[in-house]
Amino acid sequence: MTSRAADVLLSQLLDGRVKGMNDASENPKGAFVLLWLQGQRRLRQNLAYAHAQRRANELSLPLVVYEALRHDYPHASDRFHRFVLEGAPDNAADARKRGLAYAFYLQRPQHKKGALLQLSARARVVVTDWLPTFIHPAQTKALAKRVNVRVEAVDAAGVVPLSNSPQLELAARTIRPKIHRALPQFLVRIPEVKPKVDAPAQFDWGFELLDMSTISSPSKPAASGADARAIDRLCASLPIDHSVAPVDLLRGGTQAALARLKSFLAERLPGYDERRNQPSESHTSWLSPYLHFGHLGPLEIALAAQESDAPAADKAAFLEELIVRRELALNLAARSAHTTLDPLPNWARQTLADHASDPRPALLTDSELERSESPDPVWNAAQRQLVREGRIHGYLRMLWGKSLLLWSTDAAEAFRRMMWLNDKYALDGRDANSYCGFLWCLGVHDRPFPERAIFGTVRSMTSRSTMNKFEMEPYLARYAP
Ligand SMILES: Cc1cc2nc3c(=O)[nH]c(=O)nc-3n(C[C@H](O)[C@H](O)[C@H](O)COP(=O)(O)OP(=O)(O)OC[C@H]3O[C@@H](n4cnc5c(N)ncnc54)[C@H](O)[C@@H]3O)c2cc1C
Repeated sequence: MTSRAADVLLSQLLDGRVKGMNDASENPKGAFVLLWLQGQRRLRQNLAYAHAQRRANELSLPLVVYEALRHDYPHASDRFHRFVLEGAPDNAADARKRGLAYAFYLQRPQHKKGALLQLSARARVVVTDWLPTFIHPAQTKALAKRVNVRVEAVDAAGVVPLSNSPQLELAARTIRPKIHRALPQFLVRIPEVKPKVDAPAQFDWGFELLDMSTISSPSKPAASGADARAIDRLCASLPIDHSVAPVDLLRGGTQAALARLKSFLAERLPGYDERRNQPSESHTSWLSPYLHFGHLGPLEIALAAQESDAPAADKAAFLEELIVRRELALNLAARSAHTTLDPLPNWARQTLADHASDPRPALLTDSELERSESPDPVWNAAQRQLVREGRIHGYLRMLWGKSLLLWSTDAAEAFRRMMWLNDKYALDGRDANSYCGFLWCLGVHDRPFPERAIFGTVRSMTSRSTMNKFEMEPYLARYAP
């Protein structure tokens, strides 16, 4: 592809995605363009990186890449810290290969605040990625407000930009045609933008750098292949929640994500349509933690699935989840107060209120739930999977969420508990998909069903019907107390 064609293609992909976050202009004294990796923690197939690199080339400046991890965000724990830190050596190696300056800033208690502010103040332009949920909008806006440098945020979360659906979508059926119409423009590999200016030979970052050799496996060259034990030692020294243990089953980072994608395409995409709902089979991709932390992007996954040899029905079912369902969740996060019950449709709000005083089979405490001490063995097994593995099988996740209504005083309490348990334990938690999933359990994006106790006309799910529908014994044995 000629560089002109690549540039046209990149403009097409970035259409509707770049937003100036403040009124500041470019800083004439700035000696570099700064890319802050927030929700998209990778360089490959990342539109925020592509935009930043193009801006740097236009300005004839080097690009400097900053990735960070705070210890003070809600639910920061050994589990999430290890996963993010495992991705750092991959990003360092990729940046080196591309000839970019890269640093990972790991916040420690003894550090003074303001590392990013000070670095930003020295940049000509700051580019970051935009995510409509969790701490991301507030921290992006805070930076934009506090620096006298232009801050640009690139909506790089979905295959199709958020701007393609400017209103709150009612359901998958309303967003699906809009997404499908836009796919020919956006479901295209991002062209590589090569740096025109070399990274500065010496760069003063202004903060203590995370030394990649301390967290890389000694058996491999420095900055490739993370060493979980070294990372765990590092995490032990940080003021984060040490009761939520790292998950050995799912290692963080782009290389781990690519390996998982490869095995999914070969072994589990064929048959995905029919088998993905079988809890005992685990026939899904398990890519959600990598998507959540941005170690792999939806575009790369979608293209790989599309180009695979899997049957058409399996590809279509997977792309429906990965693109339509995921981007419906992003739409909800961007266009509503998605961490509250505000987005509930009127019929759901009314029916849940009408049934709020229905007798519950049992009212459980938060800690009984956290310890998997409900009267339901299927729910308890799902909760144990969440605590041990940081994930719940996709089908059971729906049952897990809805069942909380049975043991909570009302929908607001059930919603709070979904948010608390999932945010605390799920590797893919604190995501647009999380809040969308909880609200779906309470009626969002759904329709009324025949009326029942407690649920009213909100769709109910029961463990009994799950046991009748699926062979649950292997799952229950795997997640036994
Ligand atoms: C109560 C509840 C809570 C949930 N919490 C989360 C969460 O914290 N994080 C999260 O990523 N997803 C969440 N989901 C959505 C879904 O269950 C997970 O995305 C899926 O199980 C992840 O496993 P996977 O990667 O193997 O999915 P696959 O079946 O392999 O699907 C591939 C990708 O498609 C997307 N996807 C799949 N199903 C959905 C869906 N229903 N809605 C939106 N996107 C979807 C995900 O990004 C997923 O990684 C929740 C759903 C419910 C009902």
